[in-house]
Amino acid sequence: MQDSYNRQVEYMRISVTDRCNLRCFYCMPEQGICKMDHRDVLRYEEILRVVREGVRLGISRIRLTGGEPLIRPGIESLIRGIKAIEGIQEVSLTTNGQLLADMAESLKEAGLDRVNVSLDSLSPEKYKEITRVGDVQRVLDGIKKCLEIGLSPVKVNVVLMKGINDDEIEAFARLTMILPVSVRFIELMPIGHASHWFKKRYISTDIVLDKLPHLIREGKTIGGGPAVYYRLPEAVGTIGLIGALSHNFCDRCNRVRLTADGRIKPCLHSDLEVDLKPALREGRGDLAHELARAISLKPESHSMGQAGSMNGNRDMYQIGG
Ligand code: SAM
Ligand code: SF4
Repeated sequence: MQDSYNRQVEYMRISVTDRCNLRCFYCMPEQGICKMDHRDVLRYEEILRVVREGVRLGISRIRLTGGEPLIRPGIESLIRGIKAIEGIQEVSLTTNGQLLADMAESLKEAGLDRVNVSLDSLSPEKYKEITRVGDVQRVLDGIKKCLEIGLSPVKVNVVLMKGINDDEIEAFARLTMILPVSVRFIELMPIGHASHWFKKRYISTDIVLDKLPHLIREGKTIGGGPAVYYRLPEAVGTIGLIGALSHNFCDRCNRVRLTADGRIKPCLHSDLEVDLKPALREGRGDLAHELARAISLKPESHSMGQAGSMNGNRDMYQIGG
């Protein structure tokens, strides 16, 4: 379906849980993590109903996210259910990779097409500082396992943060010399509690071009997303830049987000939400109509970076990125 600005919306990101096995400092507050009531979280059959309606409106690609999607029990059955819906072309997943090595085979067998793995540092100590509890080796093992069994292309998402990991740009780039992965540098966004210290840590993805002057621009994009791709000479992998603030790509926005508690977010950076639960659970209102309404409410552009702008009602772990 086209939104009010003639953009074709064909991609839905679905957060299946707000729970996580990590505590990344920019995504979750240190204290006062607000957990959804289990009764508010959509059951798999409810998610499948939303996807079926979405497909009728032109959605063809689904990404599962969280919190951490791999900690929701039976995630394979959801993947299988989504893949069985006629009109679905691709099911992918964004994960922190802690459980990936163990689950990659069953995910692939369930029909998962590919994964994005979040990895903000290659140093075990720094990785632990950022995630508060994570083990970097498990992520690397997970990536290798995916490549081994052909759960690819694997994209490695790195949120760039000044004074935290901007000294690792070259190290991440070297990863593309030895592994056929796409390392994507993503700009930190002022979402939820991260809005408060965002200015101190934000750094434009342009710094990657300064630090890696030999990058060659790739002609093709991968998956129709917002990243601009490059490659180092002789590299087997690619490097992507996602500059949500420095290079606004809202004119190409093709997505909506479904939160774990059943709300459609037409725009990542807006507090505007359309609650599907009354239609899903109480027969109040029509699901297709509510979904179409949410798509039509997509704003022309986000307001991140503009004075006074702030996404307040959710942290990223409650949206899914
Ligand atoms: N737990 C999974 C993971 O970490 O991949 C999926 C959910 S996580 C919220 C999805 C993505 O959002 C991750 O790549 C994470 O780095 C990113 N993210 C979280 N907070 C962010 C922020 N303030 N700015 C930019 N990206 C953020
Ligand atoms: Fe969890 Fe992902 Fe947020 Fe880290 S970025 S706390 S792994 S949801």
